[in-house]
Amino acid sequence: MSNLKLPPDPDGMNDDRAEWANECIALMSEITGCDPDMEALGDLFSDIFHWADRKGITHGEIHARFAGSYAMYQQETMADPETCAKCGITISGDPVPDGSYFYCSVDCRERH
Ligand SMILES: [Zn+2]
Repeated sequence: MSNLKLPPDPDGMNDDRAEWANECIALMSEITGCDPDMEALGDLFSDIFHWADRKGITHGEIHARFAGSYAMYQQETMADPETCAKCGITISGDPVPDGSYFYCSVDCRERH
């Protein structure tokens, strides 16, 4: 798609996931005639609420699904686990966001 810096892709599927979304947004643009980028995305999101009204799905449930979907995205972009060079323990998860460090474990005390 572009040369943007992308987040980690631990299972190698994120290009496919992005392409699936791209196809949905392109189809939305084709059906409605709206601009294929942000306009189609906004229309799709608002139309999902109209769809929910007709399916008896509450807007709260839709918001909960969005939140759950973002949690799934975070799982899909989580950094590969790091192995502590000192003790060999596997440390999973993303680096500390503010750039600070944490200690490996109570016993090891290696900074990561
Ligand atoms: Zn350690």
